[in-house]
Order: sequence, then C-alpha cells, then structure tokens
Amino acid sequence: MSCLFCKIVEGQIPSTAVHQDELSYAFADIDPKAPVHILIVPREHIESLDETGASKIALLGHLMITAAGIARQKGLGEGYRVVVNTGKNGGQSVDHLHLHLLGGRQLAWPPG
Ligand code: AMP
Ligand code: ZN
Repeated sequence: MSCLFCKIVEGQIPSTAVHQDELSYAFADIDPKAPVHILIVPREHIESLDETGASKIALLGHLMITAAGIARQKGLGEGYRVVVNTGKNGGQSVDHLHLHLLGGRQLAWPPG
C-alpha cells in the first residue's frame, strides 16, 4: 500500500495524533494554513469524496461530527471551517479522503 495517509493511520509514518477511534484518525497538518489545521481521515482507504456513496453515509457523518468535536476541544467557539478538497480542480494532493479542520483566525471567503 503506497498511500501516504494509510501509512500515517498505520503508524508507519509519524504524525501528531489529535484523536483516534475505530473509524477515524485525526492528526496535525504538516504545513498548517491556520493556527489550528487538523486532518481527519477514515482508517479505511477511500480515494476521495467522489468515491463515496450511500454505503458511506454513517462514516461521513462520523467524520463530520469528529471534526466538530475536535473544534470544540480546540476552543474554536468563534468559528472554523471544514474543507474536503476533491480531485484536480478541488486541489486534492493526497488521494485518501480527508477533512481539513481550519481555525484560530478569520478565514477569507471565497477561497482561492
Ligand atoms: P489536500 O491538498 O487537500 O490533498 O491536503 C493534503 C494535506 O496533507 C496538505 O494540507 C498537506 O500539508 C498535508 N500533508 C502532506 N503530508 C503530510 C504528512 N506527512 N503529515 C501531515 N500532513 C501532511
Ligand atoms: Zn489510503
């Protein structure tokens, strides 16, 4: 398995863990774009949001609720953003589904 985030989930590549449970793993982004920048990934390899469907509804809900829980734990009560870059035009660079949790500063809109 050559997937970077699978290797991180399995501990073959080091990461700074923020949360883990039976379905997901969350860790600090190596190149943070905000004071809080955490990636939430499913333990299961799923290439992108575009590869999901009805069978993944519970997993996707779990990932979203996990992001919200981490945001509360990190004190992001003034707001935050959850982003899922998808595919080439979406700016996805790692082909394992991941949620970005960004916060700790005022975020601009629209994104680039
Ligand atoms: P995306 O561009 O949406 O696919 O996001 C991939 C993210 O993974 C980027 O924000 C990278 O900074 C982050 N990233 C890449 N390699 C690592 C790593 N070894 N540990 C933590 N984050 C990483
Ligand atoms: Zn993977």
